Amino acid sequence: MKINRNFLDLKESYLFATVGSKFTAYQKAHPEKKVIKLSIGDVTRPLAPCVIQAMHRAVEDLAHAETFKGYGPDATCYGYESLIRSIEGSYARKGVTLTDREIFISDGAKSDLSNILDLFSAENVVLVPDPVYPVYVDTNIMAGRKIVYADATEENGFLPMPDEGVSADIIYICSPNNPTGAAYDRVGLKAWVDYANRHGAVILYDAAYEYFICDPALPRSIYEIEGAKTCAIEFCSYSKTAGFTGVRCGYTIVPAELEREGVPLAKLWARRQSTKFNGVSYVTQMGAAAVFTEDGEREVRQNLEYYRSNARRIASTLDELGIYYTGGKNSPYIWMKCPGGRTSWEFFDWLLEEANVVGTPGSGFGKNGEGFFRLTAFGSAENTAEACRRLKKLLG
Ligand code: PLP
Repeated sequence: MKINRNFLDLKESYLFATVGSKFTAYQKAHPEKKVIKLSIGDVTRPLAPCVIQAMHRAVEDLAHAETFKGYGPDATCYGYESLIRSIEGSYARKGVTLTDREIFISDGAKSDLSNILDLFSAENVVLVPDPVYPVYVDTNIMAGRKIVYADATEENGFLPMPDEGVSADIIYICSPNNPTGAAYDRVGLKAWVDYANRHGAVILYDAAYEYFICDPALPRSIYEIEGAKTCAIEFCSYSKTAGFTGVRCGYTIVPAELEREGVPLAKLWARRQSTKFNGVSYVTQMGAAAVFTEDGEREVRQNLEYYRSNARRIASTLDELGIYYTGGKNSPYIWMKCPGGRTSWEFFDWLLEEANVVGTPGSGFGKNGEGFFRLTAFGSAENTAEACRRLKKLLG
């Protein structure tokens, strides 16, 4: 027996473990201090009432023979009718028409972003931005693929553009981005779509944070861009949209027009999913179907607005302090430049000691993250306001 030796090429990630242990050590040494975490990457608001009601009703269905559900309908990867219709409706409101067999229900974006790689040969070259959500890198290292990086820097506003000199087969785009919070406009995304169509590449478009976009000029789906249906797969999630990080539900769009080597990728994905995945639970799907109803969208918007107002507060604090940052306006992430030329970890230690505020060092997301720092809007409004007061006192 031989192991997959590609796993040995993975770098250990100490980022969140080190952040956690430094926080714990400081709090232990200074129990009287109230340390505020602006490093939270998980949602903290409870599920919307209409989601809870829908899930209660679904549990009741399971209690009676007449309404009981076993395995999902048809091929399990497509999900229940009411959920599919609500996702179609959400796309229609963005001006995007989808058909049934283009929408695949998943247990979240992370699994699908990884599992989709089953469709592609290990010979393909992968392009990821730097800094990056580490899952894109690690999953491709596990599969033994060559990775090239697109530099996201202060100069390009952390939104790298395609380079005709670089040849890539699989391209990851995350917009609004984790960790930088930067979001592509239509012109930027069109450039990537045109590049992918010209080169026969496939874009894996991570739209996990699309519901944070407030600016109507920014696209919320890559399919709002002409030509995207022949080159892009879109990954969406109820995690940050509706607080489903623990419940687990997402959806992936593989357009019927998307073919490579004469093979429709939706057909391959359906085959892969129906072989290796048995669908998302009925209760979860019914909860998710409630999200894009009229009541659902209104209730979910209240939670989003809570986080958005935290993000605006952090962004306006940095504006007042004259510190460069991206994100915060259409994203729960604020990516700030470390003041005084400090490295990411120097700033982490200084902020913890002097202001008792914790964030995430940007260098943990890639070499271009050095000298930057990620703050998030997922904390409580009170803690966020207090952290902003401390930032102003320390940096003003
Ligand atoms: N994509 C990005 C960029 C994320 O930041 C996250 C979670 O933090 C995910 C995907 C994972 O989403 P899910 O909870 O749907 O698996």
